[in-house]
Amino acid sequence: MTYPRITIDLKKIETNTRLLTDLCRQHDIEPVGVTKVTCGDPKVARAMLAGGMNMLAESRVENAIRLRQAGIDVPLMLLRLPMPSQAELVVENFQCSLNSELATIKALDRAAASVGKVHQVVLMVDLGDLREGILPEDVENTVAQIAPLAHIQLLGLGTNLTCYGGVIPSRDNLGRLLSLNKQAQAVYGQPLPVISGGNSSSLPLLLEGKLPPVTQLRLGEGIMLGRETVARQPIPGAHLDCFTLEAEVIELQTKPSVPIGEIGQDAFGGTPDFEDRGNHLRAIVALGRQDIAVDSLETPAGTDILGASSDHLLLDVTDYQQPLKVGDRLVFSPGYGALLAAMTSAYVSKEYCG
Ligand SMILES: *Cc1c(COP(=O)(O)O)cnc(C)c1O
Repeated sequence: MTYPRITIDLKKIETNTRLLTDLCRQHDIEPVGVTKVTCGDPKVARAMLAGGMNMLAESRVENAIRLRQAGIDVPLMLLRLPMPSQAELVVENFQCSLNSELATIKALDRAAASVGKVHQVVLMVDLGDLREGILPEDVENTVAQIAPLAHIQLLGLGTNLTCYGGVIPSRDNLGRLLSLNKQAQAVYGQPLPVISGGNSSSLPLLLEGKLPPVTQLRLGEGIMLGRETVARQPIPGAHLDCFTLEAEVIELQTKPSVPIGEIGQDAFGGTPDFEDRGNHLRAIVALGRQDIAVDSLETPAGTDILGASSDHLLLDVTDYQQPLKVGDRLVFSPGYGALLAAMTSAYVSKEYCG
């Protein structure tokens, strides 16, 4: 066994997926399983497929290639706007992509033409979160320019919320997407069957039965961590512990809580600030910013994060329930940022169970 180690419970991921695919389909929504936080891990992808997903979504071409090479052949959606320089790779590896730039859609059209394919596009509309998407007033004009592209099939409109601006999905903004899709359909002259109504932040509305009739949701975090992403409340019946992270204590000593000497900058150029807690029992854990995002790491009960550098996590363990010794492993619960970093870090070993 090597540490730090992340343990991935595939059965729990499958169960969470089943819970959400069932919920979506009860409301005539087709869910898409987002694997990006696991870097396109094929085992996680298979767990999602076993849980009822028929389509997967990824943010990076490399991850799609990883899935394809593992023999996963369901349709893939590219979530991040395509880089024009990757148009060929996108058309080759993804059936569908989310887009907001006409120049890129034209590049995809040319790439698709050169291999005799038709590439599907969901046109993203910015409903106020201010990450990707064209503004609502530009929908008709943009659709009119997509319509003549012979190797592009416009599927419909989509939106992404609660990512940059923290804007919460509502009947108002998603209702707007529905009416824009109608306008777009009139311009396109053919049905636009897909209304891609967001990510795991649309789950609270869905759970309350108040989600406007979008046809698709793209779900990652809700499955992986079992929580919606507006208030990060647990989804009833979902497992919250699909991923656990273990790391080893490499120093355990009682030390003062305020450094001794003149204080300059810390390892990351910040100016540290210290609360005097007197002498306390501190553990150094062999886990650092190269492996996790500190602010989204839930630490074991009775421990507090004091700080972290590239390779060291400092914890106040004064109130930890059991006696600790050097070489013991502590178990952490990663939030989204910590999970993303741990799955990406070559220094974190990956174990599967379930
Ligand atoms: C990451 C992402 C998703 C999935 O978001 P979750 O909060 O993990 O469900 C959906 N759509 C887009 C465009 C994304 O980038």
